[in-house]
This record gives sequence, structure tokens and C-alpha cells, in this order.
Amino acid sequence: MVDTQTQYQKIKSEINLAIQEVLDSSAYINGKIVQEFAVNLARYLDVKHVIPCANGTDALQIAMMALDLQPGDEVITPSFTYIATTEVIALLKLTPVFVEVDPQTFCIDPAAIRKAITSKTKAIVPVHLYGHASQMEDIMNIAREFNLHVIEDNAQAIGCDYYFRKGINKKAGTIGTIGTISFYPSKNLGAFGDGGALCTNDDELAKKIKMIANHGQSKRYYHDIVGCNSRLDSIQAAILNEKLKHLDEYIETRRKAADFYDQAFINCSKIKTPFRASWCKHVFHQYTIILENVNSPNSYRDELHEFLAEKKIPSMIYYPVPAHRQKMFSRFNSSSQNMPVTDWLTKRVISLPIHTELDEEQQDYITGKVLEFVNR
Ligand SMILES: *Cc1c(COP(=O)(O)O)cnc(C)c1O
Repeated sequence: MVDTQTQYQKIKSEINLAIQEVLDSSAYINGKIVQEFAVNLARYLDVKHVIPCANGTDALQIAMMALDLQPGDEVITPSFTYIATTEVIALLKLTPVFVEVDPQTFCIDPAAIRKAITSKTKAIVPVHLYGHASQMEDIMNIAREFNLHVIEDNAQAIGCDYYFRKGINKKAGTIGTIGTISFYPSKNLGAFGDGGALCTNDDELAKKIKMIANHGQSKRYYHDIVGCNSRLDSIQAAILNEKLKHLDEYIETRRKAADFYDQAFINCSKIKTPFRASWCKHVFHQYTIILENVNSPNSYRDELHEFLAEKKIPSMIYYPVPAHRQKMFSRFNSSSQNMPVTDWLTKRVISLPIHTELDEEQQDYITGKVLEFVNR
């Protein structure tokens, strides 16, 4: 699905030098490169504070801890997402409230959010799935109306531009109360190990987030609040700092690859190519198609997946089971919830390889095989 090795080869000397500098400094944890990277990423995102942490799941957890959410508080989240988004809600003894997504953007449906709000609702967690931003303007309006926090799960959409109706632009992840990022190797800005970050424009929250990520410490060995241990190590920060310089170019390459796929599938009635809403510019963490006009979509999709595997083409189902049907949430009785859009998508989506190193020859081969299957 990704080719991090070829990507590395192209900037090998810069990356190796950056790693060597960390090794020579022996500041493996909290070296000055961690802060340097945070400042550079904040500048890129045009946000006041970036606080690095150990991974994107921790970032979500720390965000919810920093907002003082209490057991029993309800947190509204899409059911069609990676498990991390919803898992941390349950981990903190908060109540996940699963809602529908929009069938075109795959992202949380603002109308469904509105319907799910109760007196216990404290926060909304939109997920910018596959690299496409949720309808943040409407979501922020709802949040203001009901006095709710917004945590943007931006693990998949770093660098995505969001356009407000009045002509203001912001980067995805910098619009809500807090945004969370993952630097998992296959993400659009990937480390060579685990990594994550939170961003916010709120000075007080930033201070608190920093404390929580470091054992609730205000100064060394003085611990004011319960926190955790969640750090980005210096080697990962050094790698990310080099790769950040190439992020825009990486995103452009992904967009070109997406356009190539679009063109190849343009006349195929069985393939719905990814929608681009007018409010954002897709960064294509995934290129996910919907199989339409087919009988038994679920088995048809799985057959395509196997057919491609036989032809040595990787493909993935993100995600075969929506959150509300996961066993870990059985105590919330959510599996009986009526989620027609989410269930419809779950049976029909399949993601094709997309990354910075795809060339036209590879894409010709991939699209040729996909079309061979759907036209047979
Ligand atoms: C990857 C991902 C996460 C978790 O990030 P990790 O760094 O793997 O912990 C959370 N949410 C979404 C939507 C993701 O894709």
C-alpha cells in the first residue's frame, strides 16, 4: 500500500545526517530537535502550539484528559473510523455516541451530530478520514450552539486545506479546540517508528497538554495533575523535521496519483471514485473507491481484493467492521443501532495503493487489473 523505502532512499543522506546528530548529542528523549520540529510544524500548520507525543492514539487520549471530560460524559464520534478514535473514549470511561457519516465524504454527518446531542454531550470528535476534511464549518457552528469541545482526529489529513465560506482558510486539525496527529510510518507525514502530536491555539490548554504528556509535571518531580508518559523521541523528531520539508511535495504526488486513478475509472459504472467537497483540498492518505451497481457487494468486493492479491497488487478494506459493531463496545449495546450509510459503505469500500512513489507504469497495471475484474 505504501513504499516508505523508496521514499527514504531519495532523502537518505539528509535523514541519516539528522539521525547521526541525535546519536552524537545523546539527547535521545526531549532533545532540542523535538522542540525544533514542534515549532516548524506549528509554522506549517499556522497554529499557535504543537505538542509532540508518542503516537496518534495517545494524542486523542491526552486531548480528552486535557478537556477534563468526566466518566459518563458523552462524546460524539463517527462509527466509520479507525478504532483508536473510539477506543480512547471508552478507555477514559466516557460514553461513545456513534453517529453516521456522509456517504460521499466518508466523514461525520453534521445533521447526525445534531440529532445525537443530549444534556450529557461534552465533545465531538470528527475524523478527517482518508485525507478529506469533515464539514468543519457546520460542526463548529453546532459546537458553539451547544457549548461543546471539538477534537479533530487529524491522523489521516495533515496538510489538508480547509476553506470557510467567508474566504478564510485553515489547515485541518487547527480548527477545533484541539487537533490530533499521528506520525505512524504509513501516514502522510510518517516517522520511522511511532509518533504523534496535538495542536491548539489555546495557551492554557497547550500548557495542560504538555503537563499531561509528561506525568502531570509542572516542574521536575512536582506533579500537579494525573498524566501519562507520552513522548516523541529525538530520533523520530529529527526524521520528521526532514520529512516535513517535503510534505507539500508528497501531498502533490498523492493528488496526481489520485487523478490518474480517477481518469482510468471515469467510464466505469461499478466504481465510484473519491468525492472532493468544495470545502477542502483532499490529501489522499487513502484512495478509496465504492463498488456500486453490483450484486452482493460484500462478496464482490472481497473477490476483487483476492483477485488483486493474486496479481500482486495490495488493496485494503478500511474498515471491515464499523466501531458501533465492535465487540469491545458491547456494553454500550451499539451494534443494534441503525446505521444504514455506515453499513452500506462498510460492505462496498476498497482502498487501492497510494503513496509518493507510485509511477504511471504501476498505476497502469493496477487500474488495468481492477478494470479487468469489474468488466469480466
Ligand atoms: C492512525 C490513526 C490513529 C492512531 O494513530 P497511532 O499513531 O497509530 O496511534 C487514530 N485515528 C485515525 C483515524 C488513524 O488513522
